[in-house]
Amino acid sequence: MDKLGHVLILGAGFGGRDAAAKLARLLPRDVHITLIDRNPYMLYTPMLTEVAGRSVSPQHIQAPTRSLPRRVHFVEAEIETADLQSKVVTLVDGSTVRADHILFALGSTTNFRDVPGAEQHSLTMKTLDDARRARTLAQRRVRQAALEKDAEMRRHLLTFTVAGGGYTGVETIAALNDLVRDTAAEVGISPHELQVGLVEPAKRLMAEMPEELASYAEHRLGVDGVQVQIGTGVEEVGPAFTTLNNGTRIPTGMLIWDTGIQPNPLLKSLDCPKGKKGGFEVDSAFQLQGYPGVWAIGDCAEIPKPDGSGSFYEPTAQNATRQGQHVAMNIARTIRGQNVQPFRYKQVGELALISRRRGVAYVFGLKVSGVPAWLLWRAIYLVKMPGLGQRLGILLDWLRLAFGRQYVPVSRRLPAASVTFSSRHRGAPGAVHKELVRVATR
Ligand SMILES: Cc1cc2nc3c(=O)[nH]c(=O)nc-3n(C[C@H](O)[C@H](O)[C@H](O)COP(=O)(O)OP(=O)(O)OC[C@H]3O[C@@H](n4cnc5c(N)ncnc54)[C@H](O)[C@@H]3O)c2cc1C
Repeated sequence: MDKLGHVLILGAGFGGRDAAAKLARLLPRDVHITLIDRNPYMLYTPMLTEVAGRSVSPQHIQAPTRSLPRRVHFVEAEIETADLQSKVVTLVDGSTVRADHILFALGSTTNFRDVPGAEQHSLTMKTLDDARRARTLAQRRVRQAALEKDAEMRRHLLTFTVAGGGYTGVETIAALNDLVRDTAAEVGISPHELQVGLVEPAKRLMAEMPEELASYAEHRLGVDGVQVQIGTGVEEVGPAFTTLNNGTRIPTGMLIWDTGIQPNPLLKSLDCPKGKKGGFEVDSAFQLQGYPGVWAIGDCAEIPKPDGSGSFYEPTAQNATRQGQHVAMNIARTIRGQNVQPFRYKQVGELALISRRRGVAYVFGLKVSGVPAWLLWRAIYLVKMPGLGQRLGILLDWLRLAFGRQYVPVSRRLPAASVTFSSRHRGAPGAVHKELVRVATR
């Protein structure tokens, strides 16, 4: 590397992508900028549940890294570990990359909260594959139920549960509910046979939202046929059942786990200061104490608010993008020999979809619900989606939806024979579940 150095960004998600774009504008030409990610795109997570619910096609929520400034050198690779003292990053193929500044923006994974069986027997909603898998499996279960004569097996196939009533859990159950009801109508199953449930251990849904909006969301989900159980946690998950802490055993074969996040597992192998949740313990300028030139932002970091309140920034895309831009400024200032600045940002609000036609929004102190909130959600997230092509694609998907013509995934075009199961599985819910998962994840 030349004399001015090399800035290495790990993770091209919300934080890393914005940091790379801003660094490209701020840094002199002879500073190298490298961005590494396992995927050649940024996943636009706010619309992930729209993919699961068949409202938007998967390729429209991927912002390709090729649209970044040309001076950002992108490497598609899996990162294995890093030596923070020498600032050397090791990739899974054994190759290494050395830098003068390393920015960690590696995001998070699902937190299963040590609930027995949860990791083995539930689906998650974090990646594009997760959304596709949930959609495919849900539809196949409903279609399989249409062919099923055994009442117990039919009930099992038609029971869908989401654990966790934060905004992603709420959006997940809303999308899943619309999807399975549409599919049931397509194959002639009565909506009364469907059991769609959401369980949340806290006293209310979406702690981030004002209580009034959370109550509205709970009410609307109920009207749409979702059984919302507040103050109820999951105690154990098996291949074909979910046991709740009130003793109820739900014969669910499809459970989506949405009870929060934990920092990227790669952090476990790093011996450095970590916060209460296991994320990088950085200062309010994103610097890792004791490791000059090592920075961390987004879901993999615990970033204190500089107001002395002792609180930390929430792991949201809204925060991560601003942190990306701010850390770029701090790295540029450091390279120029100037002082770093603390990060100060107040979230503009929270939005959540609660069905294909309704939402809740708390923006600039205003509480909006129902169709206006749904429109607001659509407008804001469409504008924020990077890339004109992606935006047009999403708009077309929504227009198709408005005219009752949903985006049709490949699995839907498969012949019916591909979703039937041999009779040896009848009466053995666990085996059927495994088979369904096996088929759905192919
Ligand atoms: C379903 C869902 C809905 C959401 N909705 C909203 C919303 O409406 N509004 C909002 O503000 N937030 C929302 N969020 C939260 C938001 O997605 C995160 O807070 C945000 O993505 C964090 O940004 P980040 O840059 O820290 O990490 P990410 O955006 O997750 O980026 C991390 C990147 O690191 C890469 N990576 C990880 N490990 C490795 C490795 N070992 N090797 C190579 N690459 C690696 C990943 O591929 C990824 O590209 C939602 C999240 C989910 C799951």
